[in-house]
Amino acid sequence: MSSSPIDPHHTERSLDPENWDELRALGHRTLDDMIGYLQTVRERPAWQPLPETSKDLFAESMPKEASPAEQVYEQIREHILPYPTNNIHPRFWSWVGGTGTPTQLIADMVISAMNSAALGMDEVASSYVELQLLDWLKEMLEFPRDASGLLVSGGSMANLVGLAVARTHMAPYDVRAEGIDAIGQPRLMYYASTEGHSSIKKAVELLGLGAKSLRMIPVSDDFTIDLAALQEAIASDRDAGRLPACLIATAGTVNTGATDPLNRLADIAEAENMWLHVDGAFGAFAKLSPQSRSIVDGLARADSLAFDLHKWLYMQYDCGCVLIRGDRPHKETFSVVPSYLRSLDRGLASGPFNFSEYGIQLSRSFKALRAWMALKTEGVDRYGEQIEQNIQQARYLSERIEAHPQLELLAPTAMNIVNFRYTAPERSANKLDELNLEILMQVQERGIAAPSSTTLNGLFSIRVAICNHRSRRSDFDALIAGVVEIGDELIASPDYS
Ligand SMILES: *Cc1c(COP(=O)(O)O)cnc(C)c1O
Repeated sequence: MSSSPIDPHHTERSLDPENWDELRALGHRTLDDMIGYLQTVRERPAWQPLPETSKDLFAESMPKEASPAEQVYEQIREHILPYPTNNIHPRFWSWVGGTGTPTQLIADMVISAMNSAALGMDEVASSYVELQLLDWLKEMLEFPRDASGLLVSGGSMANLVGLAVARTHMAPYDVRAEGIDAIGQPRLMYYASTEGHSSIKKAVELLGLGAKSLRMIPVSDDFTIDLAALQEAIASDRDAGRLPACLIATAGTVNTGATDPLNRLADIAEAENMWLHVDGAFGAFAKLSPQSRSIVDGLARADSLAFDLHKWLYMQYDCGCVLIRGDRPHKETFSVVPSYLRSLDRGLASGPFNFSEYGIQLSRSFKALRAWMALKTEGVDRYGEQIEQNIQQARYLSERIEAHPQLELLAPTAMNIVNFRYTAPERSANKLDELNLEILMQVQERGIAAPSSTTLNGLFSIRVAICNHRSRRSDFDALIAGVVEIGDELIASPDYS
């Protein structure tokens, strides 16, 4: 082996710094700043609005000329860092935001320095790290070891991949060659509850099946799928000559955290010869808690399982995953191998696994390293404890709401999501909706906390989704105090009387 001789007389330029020492100094300073930023996150408001001066910066035109990195970093410090989504904050409970962990900053630097394309077909460390991570995830979720898997951007992409595999596997013809328009073929039907995530509808549309191929089945009072209605829909589709192809269950719905009866759905899928896809974006990881794992009993019976590491596994964005039972249907759906991507027997292109044969992306970031480092650093048991802590916090918050005369729960608390509102006597449903919307916006604007909102049975709900390892009971006490204080102020004003 020989390395290239150093050529001191080269005239070519590169994008490397002319002065590495300056970059090193800036790098050290940035790392210190970032660690300090996370260490002090609790001292900052849960949300603060972006000032106009920052928006002006983001309206500036394309930079044609160079600026020193130090100067650009100053702009980041002043105009970007203070205004995050703030899912890193202990009182952030909007949508399903994950918190991330400080240790992953280290992995992030390594990922960026290596800048691997994570193809899997390259015989390099990243391929093996990702495969090992997938094996760990299968073990954590009790999925068979011979299942295939892929890291993707998030739950939406994981749902798309899983539902695409269902399509190729279930179509009684070569859907990749013929498309879904094949003459004389029955329409493939997918079924999810009305609480299924919006990404499912997008996926069904993108797969060319058409939104009419997705039956949205009503839910029961506990927001889980109505099994009788599901079975009726399947039967009536069969009678009409359509082909019931795919059941989509949710483990942890985004609105209320409800989990469809997975074992019952797996039984139906078996009896009806249908594919079972489980959207376990956050809920799948309830499996890691010995006290709460029974909520997701039956999870491992899924043919495909979608979940996010960036939600309830507290990994930095973005990282989702899809697992598919058996390698064959997965590869049959996505494999296209041109000559320029052929694996070779030896050398760089002799890696263990061509990820592009299992999904849509070709080049990907080496995001696996963040999760790999975090799982090794904390240990999987620790994650189970954190998840259980969030479930206990949701229970605590719900109990406090139920005990409070001015608050009411709007859905059963099944896992880590709490829905509630402020109530006041003699107000119409509309007035209460307006009142609670105003309360929510003020809770955020005053920087008290960052819950989000939804509509349940037609009522506006303040929604608290807890995938946050920094939250403490006192944070939920502060939320309740803030909501009640603002609600009391508002009902005293003529607008809400
Ligand atoms: C968040 C979520 C998704 C989408 O995941 P992304 O990572 O945001 O793409 C899908 N399903 C459920 C139940 C979710 O909570």
